[in-house]
Formats: sequence, C-alpha cells, structure tokens
Amino acid sequence: MTDGKGLNPAGPELAAMLPQGVLREVEPRHLEEPRGRYHGQAGLLAAPRNVEEVAAVVRACAEARVGIVPLGGGTGLVAGQVMPDGPAPLLLSLERMTAIRDIHADENVMLAEAGATLQAARDAAQGAGRLFPLSLASQGTATIGGVMSTNAGGVNALRYGTARALCLGIEAVMPDGRILHDLKRLRKDNTGYDLRDLLIGAEGTLGIITAASLRLVQPPAGIGVALMVVPDPGAALRLLAQAQARFGECVTAFELISGQGPRFLAETYPELRQPFETPPDWMVLIELGLPDGLDPDTALETLFGDGLEAGLVMDGLIAQSGQQAADFWRLREEIPEGNRRIGAISSHDISLPLSEVPRFITDAGAMLAAMGDMRINCFGHLGDGNLHYNVFPAQGRDRAEYDELRGSVQEAVHQMVVERGGSFSAEHGVGRLKVRDLERWGDPVRLAAMRGIKAALDPLGIMNPGAVLA
Ligand SMILES: Cc1cc2nc3c(=O)[nH]c(=O)nc-3n(C[C@H](O)[C@H](O)[C@H](O)COP(=O)(O)OP(=O)(O)OC[C@H]3O[C@@H](n4cnc5c(N)ncnc54)[C@H](O)[C@@H]3O)c2cc1C
Repeated sequence: MTDGKGLNPAGPELAAMLPQGVLREVEPRHLEEPRGRYHGQAGLLAAPRNVEEVAAVVRACAEARVGIVPLGGGTGLVAGQVMPDGPAPLLLSLERMTAIRDIHADENVMLAEAGATLQAARDAAQGAGRLFPLSLASQGTATIGGVMSTNAGGVNALRYGTARALCLGIEAVMPDGRILHDLKRLRKDNTGYDLRDLLIGAEGTLGIITAASLRLVQPPAGIGVALMVVPDPGAALRLLAQAQARFGECVTAFELISGQGPRFLAETYPELRQPFETPPDWMVLIELGLPDGLDPDTALETLFGDGLEAGLVMDGLIAQSGQQAADFWRLREEIPEGNRRIGAISSHDISLPLSEVPRFITDAGAMLAAMGDMRINCFGHLGDGNLHYNVFPAQGRDRAEYDELRGSVQEAVHQMVVERGGSFSAEHGVGRLKVRDLERWGDPVRLAAMRGIKAALDPLGIMNPGAVLA
C-alpha cells in the first residue's frame, strides 16, 4: 500500500527483507534535533555494520518503496536528519561503522568510515602526527558522514576550507543500492563529473556516504590564541587584513563575538569563566598556527601593536597557557548554548561578501529595530564572511510573544542578505528548515538542475524525502 506520495511506511514487511542483525531499537536521541523544533519519526532503524549491509538495506527500501533518512550524530541544525511527517521512514544510522580504516601519514591521507566521530578522526590523525583540520563545537558527536553530507565549515575553514576541500574520495551507496567505489587517495583526478562533490553537501538526498578519504596536514608547530577588543565589525575586518598581510595562511581562525553572546552566557551560564568582567561590544578571537621558528606570543603581540596603532584594537588578552586558550575558545563555542537557553525568535546562518559584512550588520540592526523590540546576537566565522545572526526577545519578554513576527524577521533578514550577494545558508545546509528559502531565493536554473540530478539518481525519491528539495 502506498500513500499519496508513492512511498510506504517502514514496517514488518520491510523488516523481513533486511539483512540479519541490522535492526536496532529506535531511541529518543534518534528522533531529536539540537534546536528542539522538529521531532522525527521512524518505522524502523537499521544500523548496518559494513558497506555491503548498507547496500542491502537500500536495495530493500528501493524494492519496498520506503523512504530512508540517513543519520549521523544528529547534530545537524536544519533538521535534515529528522523527518516529522509523511510515511514513517527507515532511519539508516551509521553508528556501527566507526572504523578508521587506514592512515597514510606519508601521503597525508586517512580513510575513515562515515560513523566515526569528527573527534575520533582528529584524534587518529593526531596519533599519526598529523592534523585533520575540520573543527566544530559539535565534533564529539558529529560524524564524518554528517560533516561531508552537510559540507560543514567550522572555525578553521578560513585556513583549510570546508569539508569538501578536505575530502579526496568517497565510498557511497547510491539510491538503487549500488556501491560507488571512489575512495581515492588522489589529489588530481579529472575523469569527468565528480560524484564526490555531488554527494558532499547533498544532505543524504542522493545516497549514503559510508566512508571518506580525508586530507590531513602537518600540524602547526606553535599555536597562539588571543581575544582582541575592536571598536566595530569594520575594524575587525581591517584587523583581519592586517593579520593576513603579516602572517598569511597562518591565520587559522578569526571569529567575531558581539557583547550579546557573553552577556547571554553571564545570564544563563554564570559558572562559565569569562575573560572580561564587562563584555565589550565587539571582540575577535584570533588563532595563529605558526611554523617552527615563529613564536606565537611575539606574533600576537606584533598584531596587537599594529592594531592599536591603526586604531583597530582597543584592548586584548593573549592566552598565556593552553588552559587560557581553551577558555577563550570555550567562550566562543558556548555561545550557541547561551542562545539556546535564552530562546531565539529566529536564527540565521548567513554569509556575505566580506566587504558587505559591516554595512549589513548596521542596516539589519536598524531594520529590526524598526520592526520591534528585539535583541541581536551576531557572531561567527568573520574570516569566511559567515555570521550567525540570531534574533531574541527583548529582556523580560517571552519568545511566544513574537510568534507573529518570526516569519517577517526571517524573510527580511534573508532578503537583505540575498540582495547583497550573500547566502541564506552558509554552512548548516538546507535540510527541512530551509526548503522554502531555497525555493524562494535559489537561482531557478540551478534549482532545475538540482531537480534533474535528483530525478536521475533517485527516481523513486526514497533518499531523505522532503529534505533540500520539496
Ligand atoms: C553546538 C553545535 C555547533 C555546531 N557548529 C557548526 C559549525 O561550526 N559549522 C558547521 O558547519 N556546522 C556546525 N554545526 C552543525 C552540525 O554539527 C553539522 O551540520 C554536522 O556536519 C552534522 O553532522 P552529524 O553527523 O551530526 O549529521 P546529522 O545531524 O546526523 O545529519 C546531518 C545531515 O546529513 C545527512 N547524513 C548524515 N550522515 C550521512 C551519511 N553518512 N550519508 C548521507 N547523508 C548523511 C542527514 O540525513 C542530514 O541530512 C554545529 C552543531 C551544533 C549542535
């Protein structure tokens, strides 16, 4: 029996077609997403042990016309991993495919299975004297399959690029159950259309990534971390340019923090150690990863001195120990938790051409002030032009009071972003949360090509139904 969309719910008939031992009990964690806005459903949960079992599960789902929702660590922020309505899907969890298959330290390559956490991959690289430089606050739970499927960015994308730039090859199961063996260790391979690039960022709508071949780098010899207080975001950008002029690619992170983030944390998370007694209106967290022979403290002092002289820096702290560096990073990485505890009216993961960032922050602030009494927490990966621009109720008011305003806030922010050549989803993806935004703001030719690709690779529409494309 099929529903109106032509897919069946996952149930006993499908269960009988699956390889022995792949089914597991669905637990609450499998159906939740970090922001708590969507609650998923699952007819069955399969956790295969190897790529052949994944292929067998997908073949069975294709035969039974059952939708598949691939699941990594469940940390995705756009609800791609949870399907709240439609015929109950089969959740395909990669939680039992966690092996680091191989490390070729001499080639700077690691082969990791999709269910390995990003932290486990980073630890394995470190064990071999290398660095896997993708770094997210969620890395203890987010998986290699998840970071590839969302093309995750994180704090070091400025220096090393997003997940796509760190992936040399992919092993995947396509929607018809065939296995794509493209787990290459090559840096050059111009042999036609690149399925690896298509599967990266596809959010589970074109196939299931089962393993990836990852690019490793030599870890920097010295790392320096500082917080510098800046007068405004424009000054922060000029400071970035100064830092890059002096230290080039050694600027590994450049994060903008508005005073609202630390203020929210002081309110909701008083036990967190804060570096400044009164949070400054704007500061940047700068990380330098330097080669042998360059002292991180001296480099940061030089940068601070240059910035002070140019009027770009007003105050600052250079981490004097690993612990202090970790505290600075902790402040930055706990900002989303502070936001969660306050409760946003609307959150935006946007990117803009770098030179547009300061004017956007001023103009969007003025626009929202005209719409109502709201607080803004703007922070993020400034070096990538990627802002997390989140809007909150005024002090003492409840977010439910803003229910009617939510849609217009989101629309107005995205409109302003798109008009300035930006993106309404910089690093989190489209998932289910931004399907309408993609339809509204996406280039029509690109959308048509995306639909054509989806129809060609997944004609039955079983892969993550309703995610990315309506
Ligand atoms: C505290 C916090 C901080 C974060 N910081 C960042 C950040 O700095 N930068 C950033 O980019 N993101 C960030 N994220 C978002 C999130 O961690 C990333 O999107 C991450 O890549 C998701 O990985 P996951 O394993 O949890 O995937 P999931 O949440 O399980 O899935 C995400 C999407 O990928 C699909 N998928 C998962 N595994 C596979 C697979 N093997 N094959 C095919 N499809 C698959 C799912 O169906 C879903 O559509 C953050 C999230 C949190 C909670």
